[in-house]
Amino acid sequence: MAVGWEKGLIDRLGPELVRFDLDSRNRLSKDYYWYSPVLKKRLSHKIADSIVIPNHEQDVVQVLSFAAEHRIPLTVRGAGTGNYGQAVPIRGGMVMDMSEMNRIMDIGDGYARVEAGVRLGTLEREARRREQELRIYPSTFEKATVGGFVCGGSGGIGSITWGSLWDGNVLEMTILTMEITPKKLVVSGRELLRYIHNYGTNGVVTELVIPLARRTEWAQAIVSFPVFEDSLRFADALSKQDAVKKRLVSVNEWPIPKYFIPLKNVILDGHAAVLLEVEEGSCAEVESLAERHRGKRTYFVPASNYRKGLGLSNFSWNHTTLWAIKTDPEMTYLQAGFDPNHFIEQTARIKSEYGDEVLLHYEWVRHAGTVMPQALPLVSFTTEERLYEIIEFCRRIGVRINDPHTWRLDAGGRGEQVISMWKTKLENDPFGLLNPGKFGQPNDGPDALPSV
Ligand SMILES: Cc1cc2nc3c(=O)[nH]c(=O)nc-3n(C[C@H](O)[C@H](O)[C@H](O)COP(=O)(O)OP(=O)(O)OC[C@H]3O[C@@H](n4cnc5c(N)ncnc54)[C@H](O)[C@@H]3O)c2cc1C
Repeated sequence: MAVGWEKGLIDRLGPELVRFDLDSRNRLSKDYYWYSPVLKKRLSHKIADSIVIPNHEQDVVQVLSFAAEHRIPLTVRGAGTGNYGQAVPIRGGMVMDMSEMNRIMDIGDGYARVEAGVRLGTLEREARRREQELRIYPSTFEKATVGGFVCGGSGGIGSITWGSLWDGNVLEMTILTMEITPKKLVVSGRELLRYIHNYGTNGVVTELVIPLARRTEWAQAIVSFPVFEDSLRFADALSKQDAVKKRLVSVNEWPIPKYFIPLKNVILDGHAAVLLEVEEGSCAEVESLAERHRGKRTYFVPASNYRKGLGLSNFSWNHTTLWAIKTDPEMTYLQAGFDPNHFIEQTARIKSEYGDEVLLHYEWVRHAGTVMPQALPLVSFTTEERLYEIIEFCRRIGVRINDPHTWRLDAGGRGEQVISMWKTKLENDPFGLLNPGKFGQPNDGPDALPSV
């Protein structure tokens, strides 16, 4: 590897913040893109020319300034747990690993101010020690960073109560622009919409303020149902009961539960499994609701054992897909939004069209105030054509699909903010160097540009 700017970079940052060795470049150029056979084929050979590991905001300023001066592409990395190759440097250049910027600056009443590289698991533990907790977090929270979640994720555990990142779950972001003299922007309110889920394409986040909730004592349970439809009706009814505090309502049709190897002794053969995190004091109510829907509680973890060993959230959200891929490497997945009033019919249509080729896994969430099932259906992959046929079928029957088989921010289905994000990119990244290729770029030609 000889790119001509190595010495200048070391002179600017000091050798301890820079890596050029192949092992670091390989390791830190990957995320979980391989969940998708489509992305796996296209991204596995992509590698950065160097890695930079800032300790302080001032280091980030130096990196940005150097990259802008020398026109070097820069891809920001949190923990690299994203699923769409968001953190893969498809045009080479530098990867900036934020993991050393991991200071929790303040935990106050109802909020935390953190550097972008703080792990969500660390923050959850610190918050719970102070009788508070995260509102929402991905199932990868032990590894994933706050900055990576806000810039690459969407929702997760807690979304049944608090919604997604776009529902007031980010209060403030500090952003640096990609310029020879980077600007520091402190953003809040509606302006945040231009930066949430931006894949690091229109600014580098150094600091965030996120809201915290009061600590709750969470019990975990699996409720098993011989009839899949009953499990869906139960999950919907429970999700709509505001009196029962919930963090997780995750539904898996059979045979998905059989992929959860560590749970094999508590999984009932042939049954759909609903994984729950509910306030301990509500368990009797939840159990009686389950019985009314012909379900049976088959596993229970009291709140005193919360966070001891693997929790049920380790089998929820996109961890479900991971367990499936471990058993069957041909499995992949989709991201779907079902109609809250017609999800039973939509489910029946998908099952009658595809049978076990598409296995349904739902996460109940609150989306802009409405309780509804989102899904991460598992798909037994054969060809790209077949995958897109399934996507088209879902769309035809009114199931929204956010395509997880593209690295393009403007093609993945979260379209609402694309235009304002693009305009922000033109202002904050005039040379088109931030995570190039993930968003329409001047060099990609007119077809790649969203119309502004
Ligand atoms: C098993 C599994 C389960 C998952 N479950 C969930 C889930 O429940 N919910 C969910 O939303 N996601 C989920 N994901 C995806 C991913 O784990 C989360 O979105 C996670 O929060 C990403 O954090 P990260 O630190 O790993 O970010 P990375 O993957 O490192 O980065 C994500 C994106 O953000 C950008 N970025 C990172 N830090 C910054 C920064 N400081 N400034 C600007 N841009 C930045 C990167 O360039 C990249 O584009 C899952 C993934 C896996 C593999």
